[in-house]
Amino acid sequence: GTAEIGVTGLAVMGRNLARNFARNGFTVAIHNRSFAKTQSLVDDHGDEGTFVASESVEDFVASLARPRKIVVMVKAGAATDAVIDELVPHLDEGDIVVDAGNAHFPDTIRREKALRAKGLHFVGSGVSGGEEGALLGPSIMPGGTAESYQWLGPILEKISAKVDGVPCCTYVGPDGAGHFVKMVHNGIEYADMQLIAEAYDLLKQGLGASAAEIGQIFADWNTGDLESFLIEITADVLQHVDAASGSAFVDIVLDRAEQKGTGRWTVQNGLDLGVPITGIAEATFARALSGSVPQRTAALGTLPAHTTDWQVEDRAAFIEDVRLALYASKVVAYSQGFDQIAAASAEFGWDIDRGAMARIWRGGCIIRARFLNRITEAYERNVDLPLLLADEYFTGAVGNGVPAWRRVVAGAALHGVPTPAFSSSLAYYDGVRAERLPAALIQAQRDFFGAHTYRRTDRDGTFHTTWSGDRTEQDA
Ligand code: NDP
Repeated sequence: GTAEIGVTGLAVMGRNLARNFARNGFTVAIHNRSFAKTQSLVDDHGDEGTFVASESVEDFVASLARPRKIVVMVKAGAATDAVIDELVPHLDEGDIVVDAGNAHFPDTIRREKALRAKGLHFVGSGVSGGEEGALLGPSIMPGGTAESYQWLGPILEKISAKVDGVPCCTYVGPDGAGHFVKMVHNGIEYADMQLIAEAYDLLKQGLGASAAEIGQIFADWNTGDLESFLIEITADVLQHVDAASGSAFVDIVLDRAEQKGTGRWTVQNGLDLGVPITGIAEATFARALSGSVPQRTAALGTLPAHTTDWQVEDRAAFIEDVRLALYASKVVAYSQGFDQIAAASAEFGWDIDRGAMARIWRGGCIIRARFLNRITEAYERNVDLPLLLADEYFTGAVGNGVPAWRRVVAGAALHGVPTPAFSSSLAYYDGVRAERLPAALIQAQRDFFGAHTYRRTDRDGTFHTTWSGDRTEQDA
């Protein structure tokens, strides 16, 4: 065969990826379980490049040059296993199978192991940017063997998004590393969206502003440090008017946020690794609260608020406070997400370069943002940076906003505006910088009821106090 890359699974994502490869000059082998999708790709876009269409898996594999590079873009889960099982008998040693769907990283670890045992490369790759990204240039996060990246790198980097000429694609690390990083990306996306939603709510309640007015505030913010895809679309969405009702669009949308599950995976993994990713967790739970209909119904009009209407006097100062609080909370969410990547990297032996991850998220993906440059620079200053917030740039950028952040969170609490992500981010900030935490009391309680022992501030060792006896201290 002669095709340089193959794509199987030609629903919206696979179809657009295949077109992206073709438009970049690669000869693309295409295949889909049901041939109709393959046919329609050729009919609608066959003139965009060179496609080699096959009806059977056998012909599809045969149409590819070796080592074969096959991108699987099917429904994540059982379908991915089914497609891999179908492909494998036709492959030869050294061939490369890329799963570009949204796999859960433990599945990727399992699949990589199985294919490696057969002499094949399995590359779990995060792909972010939705339909449009797949077509015009996504952010690509490939895992797998370093050797496989020597073959894939030039092709994937060519079709990826570019920022300042730099591709938004790099080798992430072995087996599940690519899908893991994509998972954390999505978790951060949850936090980013929740923070933006809280900022919108604060402006709405504090200023009594309309959606369109708030949209204009976001549009202004998008010219500064907060410049990002999500802020940009927020301005657009808030200014959109519903044709049917003539109301602001956001005011007629039911206030229940759904989820497909990557936020949940991120939080579950944060718990497994013991990394406090409170921004992502609060964002995920906030979506769950929005959908808790029986509880919300029972609470509505029942739970006393004991608040008064919020009438902000200095509107410009308040808007600036919210902007600073949003920026600070956002840095906390990213700082926590990068801690999670570092913890997993150590746990699974992935050796992930966090600065490079921030670099490939600058374009193509949903969380693309100007400030990611700052994160890359921070990890370039110190690859082992223990806390992103403690980087010299961020101590300044966040530190300046702390008084505003406190005013906003206090105002929200006083006036009954729920800001779980803003509040928990500030609590994290104060917790992580505290000289002494009340955890001492918790450890003392644990020793009291469960003889779980404690360490002392004034000398080494592990101790237990005989609480139910004479309360002497013993070496444990
Ligand atoms: P879907 O997730 O809707 O999957 C449909 C595709 O899977 C079709 O090509 C279908 O073939 C194929 N398929 C399903 N079951 C099987 C099976 N048992 N055997 C063979 N083929 C099967 O497609 P999308 O394009 O929306 O998404 C593809 C992947 O990309 C998913 O993993 C998804 O999570 C991920 N995704 C990523 C996004 C991103 O921004 N990165 C956005 C959206 C999705 P057939 O036509 O024959 O039914």
